[in-house]
Amino acid sequence: MDNFNSLIHHWYSVYKRDLPWRDTQNPYYIWLSEIILQQTRIDQGMAYYMSFTEEFPTISDLASASEDKVLKLWQGLGYYSRARNLHFTAKYIAEHFDGKFPDEYRLILSLKGIGEYTAAAIVSISYNQEYPAVDGNVFRVLSRFYGIYDPIDTSAGKKIFVKLAAELIKGTDPGMHNQALMEFGALQCTPQKPDCLRCPLSERCYAFANKKVADLPVKLKKTTQRHRYFNYFDISHSDSVWLKKRVEKDIWKNLFEFPMIETSVATGFEELMAMSEVNQLMDADNSVVEKITDWKIHLLTHQKINYRIIKVCLLQEKEMPIELIRVNKKDIFNFAVPKLLETYLIRNIENG
Ligand code: SF4
Repeated sequence: MDNFNSLIHHWYSVYKRDLPWRDTQNPYYIWLSEIILQQTRIDQGMAYYMSFTEEFPTISDLASASEDKVLKLWQGLGYYSRARNLHFTAKYIAEHFDGKFPDEYRLILSLKGIGEYTAAAIVSISYNQEYPAVDGNVFRVLSRFYGIYDPIDTSAGKKIFVKLAAELIKGTDPGMHNQALMEFGALQCTPQKPDCLRCPLSERCYAFANKKVADLPVKLKKTTQRHRYFNYFDISHSDSVWLKKRVEKDIWKNLFEFPMIETSVATGFEELMAMSEVNQLMDADNSVVEKITDWKIHLLTHQKINYRIIKVCLLQEKEMPIELIRVNKKDIFNFAVPKLLETYLIRNIENG
């Protein structure tokens, strides 16, 4: 174990990336970076980390912001529940802990949006406590190096990895150790093409010696992808367009979007126009369909969103469904919208 640790620690001292959250032990910043980097590449997350720390330098600043402002700053990063939980927890810490981030693992784990991995990362990096942070990178490195075939997506399998990681972290500088293991998995022992030939662990690595690199780690469950079809209506009249807030328990909750009709298949245009929901948005004698985009695809981890946008110009005022919000075109960029609509708006609204 000592040998494994010393090789990893040495590798880290040479190859670690220079990242802004590595220059601080401030638990608020560590928390922010961990939440931003879940499911997000570092190069993409970096800009968000910088803008969040600039806009909200303290937990109290984040706590006193409106949710709309937090979501707007998060726009484009996806998994918006992360931003909603971040905001909720900041308010909770401001109210119950006087704005000071708690320093006990159990307390941190009880906060909304913080799981075992994130709690361990925070206490080890900010408070030097020996809690192993076991993320996908760490599962991969340990399963390959030690030849562990227990599935990483079952609770029994996870326990085995966490137990081993808890042994490994003993007597180390815990923040550095956790980051070294994760960085090693992210850069050296990568999922698809690990650089085994130039790996300092290769002489003792089970997977390399036994040609099992591609078989480890083991996962049991196959994820299924849900196909969805979103028909958006970009309806305008004079300087106005209409938006709707997504309030359902679904993707993009509390973000804004054009009025949308979801269909179970890629419905033909004529069939769509005959639907009663469409009549609430536009009347045949009072509107002109100016453009219909082709179906496009927006991929989420477990969902394939097929979408198209129907651009409609209303010739006269029309009473719209109550849940729609009338917005002046020049204000539309103040609203947090899903990435696929942001791209469309930049192309279409900015250019008139
Ligand atoms: S030898 Fe290859 S599989 Fe083993 S730890 Fe190094 S990079 Fe990973």
